[in-house]
Amino acid sequence: MDAFQRFPGIGRRTAERLAFHVLRDPSSSALARAIDRALGEAKRCRVCGNVAQQDPCGICNDESRDASLVAVVEEPRHVEALERAGVFEGLYHVLMGAWQPAEGTDEWHLSIPSLIVRLREGQVRELILATDPDAEGEATAQLVLEALDSAGLPELKITRLARGLPAGAAIEYMHKGVIEDALEGRREVKIR
Ligand SMILES: [Zn+2]
Repeated sequence: MDAFQRFPGIGRRTAERLAFHVLRDPSSSALARAIDRALGEAKRCRVCGNVAQQDPCGICNDESRDASLVAVVEEPRHVEALERAGVFEGLYHVLMGAWQPAEGTDEWHLSIPSLIVRLREGQVRELILATDPDAEGEATAQLVLEALDSAGLPELKITRLARGLPAGAAIEYMHKGVIEDALEGRREVKIR
């Protein structure tokens, strides 16, 4: 129960239910093995920070993708969502979280320094801030913008996914058409 309660969104009662379910269900050991395997095999891509089985990951290694276009996302599950929609041909940069100043999240947990190193290499022409359209996503996008500003990078176009997305919507739950519209309608943002 303690172990389940560490998961996001799992309260005491759900943890209790899940723990007893594990005891009852003979297939639970398959889950244990799957978790063990995933933890053993998962690597972080040294280029984009995504979690994958290879490093660099399959997306960064795919030469048919447009390496001049990079979408900054909060979590690996956002990469999954965009890939599922199949409408984005560029590469990603995974921040591994959102900035939640109210909850005292340390912004240095986010992989912004590695993004700046990557941009300094000069191959990226456009950076799309594809963080969630909620308060945390906006704060995170702003944080990235400020970091880019102080890094004094060369010629770089910075865009943000189109507004008009459902308020508080999470990228991972958007269907293909919505993601496509958000990408197509992206607008340039200026560093102050
Ligand atoms: Zn990668």
